[in-house]
Amino acid sequence: MLTRSEAEALDAADPLAPLRAEFRLPEDVVYLDGNSLGALPAATPGRLDEVLWTEWGHDLITSWNRHGWIELPLRIGERIASLVGAAPGQVVVADSISVNLFKLLAAAVEARPGRGVVLAVDGEFPTDLYVAEGLCRLLGGRAELRSVRPEALAGSLDQRVAVVTLSHVDFRSGEVRDMAGLTEHAHHAGALVLWDLAHSAGVLEVELDRCAVDLAVGCGYKYLCGGPGAPAFLYVAGRHQELLANPLSGWMGHAEPFRFEPAYRPASGVARFLSGTPPILSLAALEVGVETVARAGPSALAAKARALTSAFVALVDHVPLELGLRLASPREPARRGGQVTLAHEHGYAVVQALIARGVIGDFREPGLIRFGFAPLTTRFVDVWDAATLLEEVLVTRSWDRPEHRRRARVT
Ligand SMILES: *Cc1c(COP(=O)(O)O)cnc(C)c1O
Repeated sequence: MLTRSEAEALDAADPLAPLRAEFRLPEDVVYLDGNSLGALPAATPGRLDEVLWTEWGHDLITSWNRHGWIELPLRIGERIASLVGAAPGQVVVADSISVNLFKLLAAAVEARPGRGVVLAVDGEFPTDLYVAEGLCRLLGGRAELRSVRPEALAGSLDQRVAVVTLSHVDFRSGEVRDMAGLTEHAHHAGALVLWDLAHSAGVLEVELDRCAVDLAVGCGYKYLCGGPGAPAFLYVAGRHQELLANPLSGWMGHAEPFRFEPAYRPASGVARFLSGTPPILSLAALEVGVETVARAGPSALAAKARALTSAFVALVDHVPLELGLRLASPREPARRGGQVTLAHEHGYAVVQALIARGVIGDFREPGLIRFGFAPLTTRFVDVWDAATLLEEVLVTRSWDRPEHRRRARVT
């Protein structure tokens, strides 16, 4: 079993270890929730200060040109493209995942006349289902959401399916889906595919172009460290861009917004999926996060995530079975994202007891304890400390207190 000094040795040999200094993390916390809110890059406060005082405060509206504010959505999109296996010109930063899902699913359904099914899997992240449901309601009888068990997905692909929407990494179990295989399967049935990269961009090797993916969305505030509520991104394969229409046809997606024409003319390329004015303060923070993460490169990030999750699984395997902990993530490292999920009957209280001891993970229904191992900010000693404290919380039953059972609004 891994000892703490062996964990220290792994940190000393870790090629990504120096990049941890690029983040601000509290000394007394083991942060295992970078999969929900990435840590603060050390350069973000200084950059925001500059945008506030110089760009906004002094240069005012001239900054749209002078400081390139207007280019930020596409500029950051290109940096994200390098993390998700996309050639230039296919990624843009905009809105939230929810809004981007709406825009892309609507465009996909419109582009597949005669097909009215949006196919998803049970247990998908709720907003993905809610948005698809809302879109179908809006379209009246034209479209319907069909959600099936993951095993039934391939068998449900028929000539009525317009688009399949799937998370690359399951947010509960951390299981990675077969992007290449499922995309090919959907194409064979004549459907488009939209992949949600919320739990893979910035932690796994994603190959959108090589897998011939049609559409994708992803998150700015998780592994990309863009800050709470950071804007999201979307990907539209070059071959589809001139054929798909943004239903939220706002002026920022117009071919020439500053001609103020009465009629909408879409921009060429992925920029047509912009809608309103981009949030510059949030984009400035996101740019620093993406730059910091992109410096590591996807293969080093993925290798470190696999090593961290494997070390954690090996330590948890030594926790006596009678303490009621069960691995709810795939055992094979290659089938796992950057997280490990454990099931426990009193999962919520266990997470609260760990947070009280400085180990921050999170809880998801039903009874699931999630630990995210963001590769740039998590050390092997953090893995060791977390596993050790987890066992201690279970052995001493310190989770069994009223204050640990009280549910907060955000879990
Ligand atoms: C985090 C997450 C989202 C978040 O959506 P927002 O609209 O950006 O809040 C969506 N889908 C998945 C799979 C997620 O993990």
